Amino acid sequence: MSASTTATLRHDWSLAEVKALFVQPFNDLLFQAQTVHRAHFDANRVQVSTLLSIKTGACPEDCKYCPQSGHYNTGLEKEKLMEVQKVLEEAARAKAIGSTRFCMGAAWKHPSAKDMPYVLQMVKGVKAMGLETCMTLGRLDQDQTEALAQAGLDYYNHNLDTSPEFYASIITTRTYGERLQTLAYVRESGMKICSGGILGMGESLDDRANLLIQLANLPEHPESVPINMLVKVAGTPLENAEDIDPFDFIRMLAVARILMPQSHVRLSAGVKR
Ligand code: SF4
Repeated sequence: MSASTTATLRHDWSLAEVKALFVQPFNDLLFQAQTVHRAHFDANRVQVSTLLSIKTGACPEDCKYCPQSGHYNTGLEKEKLMEVQKVLEEAARAKAIGSTRFCMGAAWKHPSAKDMPYVLQMVKGVKAMGLETCMTLGRLDQDQTEALAQAGLDYYNHNLDTSPEFYASIITTRTYGERLQTLAYVRESGMKICSGGILGMGESLDDRANLLIQLANLPEHPESVPINMLVKVAGTPLENAEDIDPFDFIRMLAVARILMPQSHVRLSAGVKR
């Protein structure tokens, strides 16, 4: 990133400015987003990542959208932490089908001291295959963050999910401040940040704008910004959430692109953390 392009990145967006972007005519918004996109990216190129759940279900957190939460009965089959060798086999398969990044996710509140050595072996092994590495393991302390960075982890995913104002309606077992602290540790360690949110949980336009403002006004923009469409899973409190207008989803992506011109805005449908 050159000094001149960095200088054009803003970290001081206001709610009024961001709402004005959201409510402009659809084609004007798309044109503006495309113009920003084409100034920084190859217009028709996408980056493909493969995700693997390395530990599934029985999560102590109560994220209302998530079938992996132990608080809800969704019939999900729970799995313990996968063996390192199995993870490496999956990574090799992902590489063979053209993925350049391999993301490993565990349904934990935070990694335990007992699990950390295995997690570090996974990072080293996947990295040695020439793939970029990404993990999502819940909250990290500073030592864990450093250890992951030293093992070669490129990206850490930790989503903010929604605005600070709406957050308590969705999650009560982890604070917004804790999420921001984990992101700060990740940034300090030199790893890249993947952080975004979910639409369709009953949030308002202000909430969508405020989520993007939280991300864009970080000292550095996350390199990767996944925007998820809620997948309604029976048994979770959001199973009957109202569908969102697909055009509103596109508006969210377009505004994310304008606010964070150099970030990879990712289209996703599902739950990440
Ligand atoms: S989103 Fe992550 S932290 Fe929340 S319940 Fe699901 S697995 Fe746990």
